[in-house]
Amino acid sequence: MENSGKKMLESAQGIIKKTAKNLHLTKDIVNRLIKPNYIHEFEFTVKAKGRPVIYKGFRIQHNNTLGPYKGGIRFHPGVTKEEVQALATLMTIKCAVAGIPFGGGKGGVVVDPKKLTESELEFLSRAYARSIAPFIGPNVDVPAPDVNTNPKIMGWMVDEYIKNVKCQMSNVKNKNELNELRGTFTGKPVEKGGTLGRTEATGRGGVIILKALLKKINVGAIFKSPEKWANQDSPLQKKIGGLTIAVQGFGNVGYYFAKIASEEGFKVVAVSDSHGAVYVKGGLSPEKTLQCKKENGTVAGCYCKGSVCDLRYGKEITNEELLGLPVDVLVPSAFENVINGENMRKIKAKIIVEMANGPLTDEAYEFLSKKGVIVVPDVLANSGGVTVSYLEWFQNMKNEKWSEEKVNQRLKKMMEKAVEVIWTKSEAKRIPLKQAAFEVAIERIVKK
Ligand code: NAD
Repeated sequence: MENSGKKMLESAQGIIKKTAKNLHLTKDIVNRLIKPNYIHEFEFTVKAKGRPVIYKGFRIQHNNTLGPYKGGIRFHPGVTKEEVQALATLMTIKCAVAGIPFGGGKGGVVVDPKKLTESELEFLSRAYARSIAPFIGPNVDVPAPDVNTNPKIMGWMVDEYIKNVKCQMSNVKNKNELNELRGTFTGKPVEKGGTLGRTEATGRGGVIILKALLKKINVGAIFKSPEKWANQDSPLQKKIGGLTIAVQGFGNVGYYFAKIASEEGFKVVAVSDSHGAVYVKGGLSPEKTLQCKKENGTVAGCYCKGSVCDLRYGKEITNEELLGLPVDVLVPSAFENVINGENMRKIKAKIIVEMANGPLTDEAYEFLSKKGVIVVPDVLANSGGVTVSYLEWFQNMKNEKWSEEKVNQRLKKMMEKAVEVIWTKSEAKRIPLKQAAFEVAIERIVKK
């Protein structure tokens, strides 16, 4: 994990340097884009099973040119400073790509939360929130959930933060002030100032982006199946109906991507989790697969046993086999570096939507791009989550509560606008989407 964090950081800094060179930026500006503004690295003590345990925590504030630092908090035994810094750097780019007034930050704790009881997890979350309370705030730094953290944890953290800055809740003057303070964290439970639509937002945003790109792409040329795409003016829905998708990872991001893609008419043929994968050639139902996962603990083997054995021809496959399936669109939604030098030659998909952060190594990205595979970069593909986080923060700051429909409409508009700008740049300069996304982001930061 240490090496993977270093690799991720080198990769994030490498593409910023390359983009800055293309944009003829000075060394000083490049340094400003690379170096984080603040690295908070600290230890804090939590009582677990009656004895004090010391944990290591980080909050890295990378860049706040466009607005308050923004980024999730990760609980994982493999968290390193380099990994947190890489993710904070990518958040700066992602917020700029999405066109939201936030900078980039990220937090983490070196811990395996699965080994903690619920009350230990609460103590840990509250202790971490107290440690970062002096340097966060609705106009300074706005954390959110990430791997192994969730709305419940954000609820504990926001409570603890408010207690700390205001000594006690009774010192909060009125509802407006309370809502504004709650805006310090996003991804909160709805009853604590969270927004409707946040849980599905990253997956939903990914599907909106994929659809918007398919409107632009010459689908017939990409998929080399002229009989299917003979009529280039055919409605988008007709194009989508023929496209198969494999999704790696069936957590928050992967499940909602699969579910919403399926509702939009794509054919989701394979999904996986850490235990294995399932392939249903004729298309599977993400909801039924989730139900099966809840019953059996994994998606592997679904469609062959239990109450959802109603789709025939389902086959249990490995995660590696899923990556090499003959699908049109591959959607890695689990974690970083899963498509790499060892398996890149097996990839058959024509489009890869990077829903996880950094799922392709630099080597795999270069190889697949040269082969003509369209890679929708993570900083664009999964920016739906942070976009709805922004909408949550906005509602808190304005003391408003929006319907889910309104949130989804705003998300759609913002994602489609992001695609439009990046596609236009990519076409005009004949550069890949990833390079175009970094250019758009860096230009926005530098111009401010
Ligand atoms: P999650 O913990 O909810 O889900 C992760 C999924 O990956 C689980 O289904 C897990 O079983 C699966 N997985 C783990 N190891 C695997 C393996 N070896 N092979 C296949 N699957 C495996 O996490 P998430 O919130 O869905 O996040 C997934 C990725 O998306 C991460 O890279 C995260 O940083 C990124 N991301 C998440 C959000 C968000 O809003 N949740 C936003 C942007 C980016």
